[in-house]
Amino acid sequence: MEIPQRTDVVIVGAGLSGLACARLLQAEGIDLVVLDSSDAVGGRMRSDQVEGFILDRGFQVLLTAYEELNRSANLNALDLQRFKPGSLIWTGKRLERLGDPFRNPTALPTSILARVGTIEDKLRVALLRQRLLRRPAKMAFDGPDRTTEDELRQEGFSEAFIDQFFRPFLGGVFLERDLKTSASLFRYYFRCFAAGDAAVPAFGIQRLPEQIAEPLGALVKVNTTVRSISNEAVTLDDGSAIAADYVVLATDGEAAAALSDIKAPESKAAITSYFSAAKAPINEPILILDGEGTGPANHVAVMSKVSTTYASEGRHLIAVSGVDKETEDPASFHESAQTQLTRWFGSGVSDWEHLRTYRIPHALPRHPPGFESTRPPQRTSCGAWVTGDYSDFGSTQGALRSGRMTAEALLAAIHT
Ligand SMILES: Cc1cc2nc3c(=O)[nH]c(=O)nc-3n(C[C@H](O)[C@H](O)[C@H](O)COP(=O)(O)OP(=O)(O)OC[C@H]3O[C@@H](n4cnc5c(N)ncnc54)[C@H](O)[C@@H]3O)c2cc1C
Repeated sequence: MEIPQRTDVVIVGAGLSGLACARLLQAEGIDLVVLDSSDAVGGRMRSDQVEGFILDRGFQVLLTAYEELNRSANLNALDLQRFKPGSLIWTGKRLERLGDPFRNPTALPTSILARVGTIEDKLRVALLRQRLLRRPAKMAFDGPDRTTEDELRQEGFSEAFIDQFFRPFLGGVFLERDLKTSASLFRYYFRCFAAGDAAVPAFGIQRLPEQIAEPLGALVKVNTTVRSISNEAVTLDDGSAIAADYVVLATDGEAAAALSDIKAPESKAAITSYFSAAKAPINEPILILDGEGTGPANHVAVMSKVSTTYASEGRHLIAVSGVDKETEDPASFHESAQTQLTRWFGSGVSDWEHLRTYRIPHALPRHPPGFESTRPPQRTSCGAWVTGDYSDFGSTQGALRSGRMTAEALLAAIHT
């Protein structure tokens, strides 16, 4: 299908939020086209096939407790491969295991004995978990806000436990170890991890946007860059224009700021190096955390233990990720991470083969205390509608919800 010269709605961006918005409008019989400058759908959720391995562009997981994921996707068809609840934590001496005794009672003795935090810390985790699970997920956002670090101290966790467990664990979620992110997001994520699983689609994270895009078919045009927008047209890089009754700006925050008067959100970078190995350093699909705090790696996962399809026959795939200042030198990250991980897993690490390193400069928007998670869809000064994770909160959940809410607001405008 050729790019139309006129349509009801033009959506700029085929990441999760643009696709979610398009799907809802399509279901209501609205004529639309989705344009994306990249060579495929997915935005920040892309996967590459490299030498028989599946490499997600930056380590990321889906949380099965995300309400919008269950609303927008067919999880069975994604063939989700789940992480084991809990984590292994490198404390500087050994890997300690913190399990989730509620979901796996056999993890209780090991978790109690793990030399990470005190018995009181572990009891507090259990109580907090139960308290959050008793309330609906949206209540995580209620009440006065503060930083996650302040909240953890207020909850009575010891500094050692915050450093050894919460900084690397939440550091991997927030992409920052200082824990300056809003405590409402801590409560939301902690509840999600307790209520469901962390997982990846068997064939890579990009399967999610691809699945959502499938019913849109030829309505999605990739390799199509939008140069400028107004409330009733977009102009493409080649100078051609598409007239529309409505324009939806569904790009990332930085691109939205370049195309409109939307202020670019402050963002956080991420880095992931992928390694191929003949032997896996551990034999289970569990997250491994830097509780020592030396870096550069903050969190590690043997992806081939989570989903065998991620690695080529007879090999293993290891994802090693860093946050904060560790993202600043992508050329040396994999080498210094390999040196660090030799202490965790032994000399076999020097045989790992580096496949590729991804640095994503604007991986997630920053959400300090007091940020608004569910605000009404924004409009640019020229009248275009805005959607994207930065309008909600940086996540699969936030991007999908923002897309849906913008589509609902637009439908209401169309029908008045
Ligand atoms: C490394 C990393 C780890 C993450 N980890 C997690 C995780 O574990 N769990 C989780 O829930 N979330 C995670 N996220 C966040 C999640 O991936 C994002 O929140 C979500 O994908 C954002 O979707 P979006 O549609 O808002 O924006 P994007 O995915 O950024 O989509 C915007 C689209 O707009 C297009 N575009 C930009 N400018 C133009 C233009 N001028 N013309 C045409 N098209 C344009 C881009 O090509 C892109 O496809 C992670 C993200 C990264 C990068």
